[in-house]
Amino acid sequence: MSQHYELLSIGAGSGGLSACERAAEYGKKTAVIENKIVGGTCVNIGCVPKKVMWFASEIAGALDDAKGYGFDVSVNDFSWKKLVKAREGYIKGITDWYGNYLKDSNIDYIQGTAKFIDAQTLDVDGTIYTADHIVISPGGYPIIPEVPGAEHGITSDGFFALQEQPKRVAVVGAGYIAVELAGVLNGLGSEVSMLLRRDHFLGSFDSMLRETLMEDMMNAGVNIMSRINVEKIEKNTDGTLTVHCQGGITIEKLDALVWAIGRAPNTKPLDLDAAGINATEQGYIPTNEFQETNIKNIYAVGDVIGEAQLTPVAINAARRLSDRLFNNMPDRKLDYTNIPTVMFSHPPIGTIGLTEEQARKEHGDAVKIYQTSFTAMYHALCEHKQQTAMKLICVGADEKVVGLHIIGKGADEMLQGFGVAIKMGATKKDFDNVVAIHPTSSEELVTMR
Ligand code: FAD
Ligand code: NDP
Repeated sequence: MSQHYELLSIGAGSGGLSACERAAEYGKKTAVIENKIVGGTCVNIGCVPKKVMWFASEIAGALDDAKGYGFDVSVNDFSWKKLVKAREGYIKGITDWYGNYLKDSNIDYIQGTAKFIDAQTLDVDGTIYTADHIVISPGGYPIIPEVPGAEHGITSDGFFALQEQPKRVAVVGAGYIAVELAGVLNGLGSEVSMLLRRDHFLGSFDSMLRETLMEDMMNAGVNIMSRINVEKIEKNTDGTLTVHCQGGITIEKLDALVWAIGRAPNTKPLDLDAAGINATEQGYIPTNEFQETNIKNIYAVGDVIGEAQLTPVAINAARRLSDRLFNNMPDRKLDYTNIPTVMFSHPPIGTIGLTEEQARKEHGDAVKIYQTSFTAMYHALCEHKQQTAMKLICVGADEKVVGLHIIGKGADEMLQGFGVAIKMGATKKDFDNVVAIHPTSSEELVTMR
């Protein structure tokens, strides 16, 4: 006998949980299927543990900066082990909470790996479930390249499993994870090399952001190596790694190598063909604006659609889907434009809308740029001076703000409110009409000339 639900989610991560939660609020019979741990990537091996590590690294920076403010600080010890234990305790608190929350919310939790039998039927490790609506939200996994010895490296998953701090590390990659993990490791005292296959990291970000961050990371001691292609990893008898790169370049005596070269969707085990669901060559599931796949009553949300792979995107898309399906809101959907995003680097980046390059391509001479760069007051007394840089990208006679980019201390917390303004279609004049808050860095965003 199979069990029937009004909505089943594959994956108890940001997307799957949110779809069920909203459906349950509308009194629907719903269950979430998970083959690892409730909370998914964000809670267990993504945003949350990463942010804890980022805080630790920021604190290390603040201890250094304290000297400039007259403190005679000596740090006796930093225990990576203690930090990791405290972090894992915090995460266990969240996942335990989820267990109770699911029960209280009348959401069934099914442990196991789901695969399609047909468009209404799933097999979870031998048990059959049917549903009126199925939400596919299995997230993704980190890619490991096909080079000899690649298995000696770790990914972000392995980074969070590290019980000892690697003293010498190479991070291969040029996106969010490479930049964030390299920054954390460097901030906590590891010797870090970043291996980029091109000239820059963060290729899709506004050039002001990546150039400022690259300079700052180099000043902070990160060895950024451009145009490097890894050919082979060798594990030595003393346990260290040697990385052989094209052109005869070798990097020796590494305690760890982190692959951060992108992620791939978790769709292979799902047997999408059994339900006739279309996927791209890489395994992503394309949807229309309402998260609908090509098969009726089957939807995909979150990282698996291959767009804006961010937790709040998965959550919002899923909630809106359940609103539409179960609360008579036929037009409810997520608008994927102008999504604010933060890079938890040191200093952090906050960015929304078009880059200058994209704006000029789209709007040509109608683009007007306002830009500033300065040393934030916090750093005025410190030995290590981080640069703050800001850019507003405006278009047309009314100077509508179509892009806003910030790098500098506090950028992470600055962006959310400015995101509201951009989403509402604010113009430069609207920015200018706001009285500045002094003395802050963000006041520059409403006083640029
Ligand atoms: P996931 O959260 O990955 O959940 C999918 C779940 O499905 C997983 O638990 C998986 O085990 C399960 N599953 C997969 N296949 C099956 C199956 N066949 N049967 C049953 N269960 C299955 N985003 C931010 O917004 N801010 C950040 O700071 C941030 N930092 C990140 C840092 C790192 C290191 C990483 C890797 C990601 C980060 N992200 C961040 C991205 C964010 O974690 C993802 O966008 C988000 O988790 C996607 O949610 P999801 O529901 O699509 O997938
Ligand atoms: P990204 O897609 O962000 O970056 C991976 C980059 O690695 C590519 O852009 C590419 O850059 C480079 N790369 C690809 N293949 C190779 C290779 N073979 N050798 C060397 N470099 C290579 O992926 P991430 O894994 O960093 O992150 C996945 C997603 O998770 C992000 O896109 C983001 O949506 C989300 N995330 C969000 C965070 C946040 O919100 N703060 C934090 C962490 C993750 P190039 O082409 O320039 O070489």
